[in-house]
Amino acid sequence: MYKPHKGQQLAQWLRGSGINNEEVLDTIAKTPREMFISEVLQHKAYENNALPIGQGQTISQPLTVAKMTQQLCSHGTIKKVLEIGTGSGYQTAILAQLFEEIYSVERIKSLQFQAKRKLNQLNMHNVKMKHGDGWEGWNSKAPFDAIIVTAAAKNVPAALVQQLNKDGLLVLPVGSDEQKLIVVKKSGQQVNTLEIGTARFVPLVAGALA
Ligand code: SAH
Repeated sequence: MYKPHKGQQLAQWLRGSGINNEEVLDTIAKTPREMFISEVLQHKAYENNALPIGQGQTISQPLTVAKMTQQLCSHGTIKKVLEIGTGSGYQTAILAQLFEEIYSVERIKSLQFQAKRKLNQLNMHNVKMKHGDGWEGWNSKAPFDAIIVTAAAKNVPAALVQQLNKDGLLVLPVGSDEQKLIVVKKSGQQVNTLEIGTARFVPLVAGALA
């Protein structure tokens, strides 16, 4: 069962860990993270950890979710967001409360299906999901104001940079064991890359869908 004070405690901890965007903190405080993990792990739902969600995948750490989301929130007007790696749907739920239109791509059908059910239970209907390969983005819905990738890519996927609008923002982990959290900012013809920290994500898989 959702215990609001737990969400508030987590937000308070995130504030102490350097997250200062109030919108992001409020959204994390009111999002029932335990809904996105299995019952046996729910007592750990409001700790800062990545937890298994099946199929060898994990729900992201709240601090990482907050850091990446904060990048989007401090970028100016963002309405339309593409997420790569739906996973449990937790990051998707955070985005759905902050931005108008969310598109989310996942390569494992069973995870996508579960995530969709959770978002429906939470009455979040501004999310469209696709079973597909995140390396390719979602071309028919482009351009996006922002793209967030929650699996680690070996390099910045070219399709994603292409699918950003002219002043769009891409946030993603790059690397294998040692990963860097990267922000790619488009500004007209220019593309600037900035490193904002380190991360530990499962890989952005290349190859057949599951
Ligand atoms: N934000 C999610 C993170 C899940 S882990 C959460 O907090 O729950 C990363 C997810 O990316 C996994 O579900 C994995 O299946 C997915 N993924 C990995 N490679 C992918 C690819 N090429 N295309 C789409 N999804 C991919």
